[in-house]
Amino acid sequence: MASNNVAQFATELNMSADLLLTQLHASGVQKSSASDPLSKEDKDKLLDHLRRTHGAAQDGDKKKITLTRKETTEIKQADATGKSRTIQVEVRKKRTFVKREDAPTDGADVVATLPVVDADEIARREEEMRRQAELISRQEAELREKQEHLAKLEAEKAAQAEAQEKALQKAKVEAEKNAAQAVLAAATTGGAAAEDKKRVAAEEAKKKSDLQAKESAEKTAATERARKAVADEVAQIKAMLSAPRRVIKAPEPAPVAPVVAKAAEGTLHKPADKKPGEKKPVVVDKKSIKSANVSSTWQDDAAKKRGVSTIKPRGNTGAGRDAWRSGSRGGRRNSHADDHSTNFQAPTEAVVKDVYVPETITVAELAHKMSVKASEVIKHLMILGQMVTINQVLDQETAMILVEEMGHKAFAAKLDDPEALLESSAAHADVEMLPRAPVVTVMGHVDHGKTSLLDYIRRAKVASGEAGGITQHIGAYHVETPRGMITFLDTPGHEAFTAMRARGAQATDIVILVVAADDGVMPQTKEAIAHAKAAGVPLVVAINKIDKPGANLDRVKQELIAEQVVPEEYGGDAPFISVSAKTGQGIDDLLESVLLQAEVMELKAQRDAPARGLVVEARLDKGRGPVATILVQSGTLKRGDVVLAGSSYGRVRAMLDENGKSITEAGPSIPVEIQGLTEVPVAGEDVMVMADERKAREIGLFRQGKFRDVKLAKQQAAKLENMFEQMGEGEVQNLPLIIKTDVQGSQEALVQSLQKLSTSEVRVQVVHAGVGGISESDVNLAVASKAVIIGFNARADASARKLAEANGIDIRYYSIIYDAIDEVKAALSGMLAPEKREQALGLVEIRQVILVSKVGAIAGCYVLDGVVKRGASVRLLRDNVVIWTGELDSLKRFKDDAKEVRAGFECGLTLKNFNDIKEGDHLEVFEVQEVARTL
Ligand code: GDP
Repeated sequence: MASNNVAQFATELNMSADLLLTQLHASGVQKSSASDPLSKEDKDKLLDHLRRTHGAAQDGDKKKITLTRKETTEIKQADATGKSRTIQVEVRKKRTFVKREDAPTDGADVVATLPVVDADEIARREEEMRRQAELISRQEAELREKQEHLAKLEAEKAAQAEAQEKALQKAKVEAEKNAAQAVLAAATTGGAAAEDKKRVAAEEAKKKSDLQAKESAEKTAATERARKAVADEVAQIKAMLSAPRRVIKAPEPAPVAPVVAKAAEGTLHKPADKKPGEKKPVVVDKKSIKSANVSSTWQDDAAKKRGVSTIKPRGNTGAGRDAWRSGSRGGRRNSHADDHSTNFQAPTEAVVKDVYVPETITVAELAHKMSVKASEVIKHLMILGQMVTINQVLDQETAMILVEEMGHKAFAAKLDDPEALLESSAAHADVEMLPRAPVVTVMGHVDHGKTSLLDYIRRAKVASGEAGGITQHIGAYHVETPRGMITFLDTPGHEAFTAMRARGAQATDIVILVVAADDGVMPQTKEAIAHAKAAGVPLVVAINKIDKPGANLDRVKQELIAEQVVPEEYGGDAPFISVSAKTGQGIDDLLESVLLQAEVMELKAQRDAPARGLVVEARLDKGRGPVATILVQSGTLKRGDVVLAGSSYGRVRAMLDENGKSITEAGPSIPVEIQGLTEVPVAGEDVMVMADERKAREIGLFRQGKFRDVKLAKQQAAKLENMFEQMGEGEVQNLPLIIKTDVQGSQEALVQSLQKLSTSEVRVQVVHAGVGGISESDVNLAVASKAVIIGFNARADASARKLAEANGIDIRYYSIIYDAIDEVKAALSGMLAPEKREQALGLVEIRQVILVSKVGAIAGCYVLDGVVKRGASVRLLRDNVVIWTGELDSLKRFKDDAKEVRAGFECGLTLKNFNDIKEGDHLEVFEVQEVARTL
């Protein structure tokens, strides 16, 4: 039966009568009690109201939207055993948007959030809302249709019932009529027969009425079934539409549902609320959802559509929902904040750090830099297959791999990187910068007077007042002038300058370019200019030998201008000073110009800081061990300091100045000779004072290893290269050399000069170069690499001499670089293969090939062009491709040997060690003429 009052309709809709009343009230149907009758119009009104609510949402007046989404991400994580596991993280997100002004009517507790979203997101959500609204209206239309159908069915049912009643009535009437007729008949025909007839008639009537009743009942049942089906559908749709009412019924919100608590635990993330300013939670009470009932349906529906289980406790409180929502909010935060690494075992906030890794670092330090426990680092290293202790030193490579492994970003920090040496450099970053003396290098063409000039200045300025002072060359010295101090690097020439620069070290502030007034600009003058310019170092020109009669100042000036060195008097920036290293004329002016130039440059350095500097020169002293001249560039070097010089390290045991006088400290721009290093460092290498000897040793040792590797790698590469070239060209010659010198400076100069002699055909390969005497191991190396040993101011000791004699190793001694270069040059030209010139002689066609055992292939040929000579070189061509190159073995004319066979004649020939000759091949006959040559 159709629901005729509020209570019935409520039951049909699976909701409380009270709620229905509220809804009816909202839709403008005034009913006060559950027993009030409900007409079809009333129902329609309610339906219209509901539709209006959604229609309104469609029109953009959104009251509340809830969106549910699911996201699954995978995280790869190594577990304790080192196996990598994939963890699936499902993040369920639900957002509810509520317009604030819609707020509260009856104090329920639905918390909605209004997240900050971008335009795209809003558009997407609006689209979703629209789709939801469409769905709702479709469902409603369906509902209405179904309800109409239901009403029809109900009417039908009523009609059927009526008809049935009527039929029964009729049957009854008929039966009665029949009975009456039977009685009448009985009355007329007689007792027994009448009685019989009456019974039969009654039976017939009964049968008929039964049949009718049955038919009617069946019909009714069918109608009832149809009605029931439709009613079910209606109820279902209504249930869907009315689902949110359960939420509204929510009594009190539970603080956090267990499900949520668990979810929050399982993730690394702080609940979103902890990040202020990102979200504004809006409190909406349950009545505000009154108009939004349907929106919850959207959400259910949307959830269904996506196959999401919304873990919402059905028919239950809003509390669970609420809690679930806040849980999901936490989950949302997850997916955003933790894209990099998610570790379910270690609930820490994952932060990707930039970690600067110095050349060596201890496990503890590394852990500190990554803000993790040392045990974590050890654990990861174990996973990487390294067993380490907390104090163990890791090399840069390992440490960087580990850092990356642990999800941070590793950067290789240079040794002097403040990050790498936190304490020592950072602590002194704010030390005042004070003016310092300029460091000067003297350059110029050979014999223009560089040495003389340096010696004169030194004699005049340094030795003066140092009665009895032993002048010794330590590679640098400084002079005091009335205007200030100047430091000279006294390895003249540009070789040392470039060698330093090649290491990235720039020791020189100003270059004094010495040009002999009687000689002018020469090749090395030009080179020196080029080097100074390339380094960006200003020039001060000293026109020397001004005392000489042949001096021509103007010519020198003109020549220098041609090289873009313009005198100040002509508007340029180079001061030109006329001097004589012999008489000392103009020297003071020169020094003054240098200081003026330095003033312009405003050279400054820290003084009260640990020293940093450069190795200027280093050598092995028999009595004192490794000694190194160090130019302090900043800070102050003190006796007792721990220094690191390249891969060498040690404590400064003794410090001498250029006069051999012991000193205790040296400030910026002061050169000193130090003792105490474990090894001879290389000129141009950085020197720095370290706070910790252990650290210096570690870095030194590490660098030694590294340099050895690099050296090995380089040598390997050179060999490979040679091999490749030899294979490619077939004719490259190598001249392997082992060079031993007295000091680092001459080693650099010699190695560079000799390597420059390499040509495309002869390569000078410096197998090894070092400072010190020639030892047994040097000779052994020479034996192994078939090298020549060059001793520059260095001699072989007795055992090395013996070994060299025994193995026929060539040891050559020099004391002048140019002599060494000249001799090597000569050796190279002697080794040069004579230039070959090829001359074509003729062309032969092979017409027949006879294979003879013991002899091989004999070719019967015809000379097409030119001539074929016995012993000539030949190229076998097949289809114009060179198959083989070699020589003729024999040449015959008929049975006799022939010296040569000319074009148009036949001949027989064999090839030296080659039998793969075919008919139709051609032989190109040529001769090689050798042309001797020198470099
Ligand atoms: P370097 O090769 O540039 O170092 O030149 P040196 O200093 O060895 O000088 C080469 C030659 O020039 C030596 O014989 C010096 O005596 C001579 N010489 C250097 N300077 C002067 C000078 O100012 N006047 C004269 N007359 N001779 C000089």
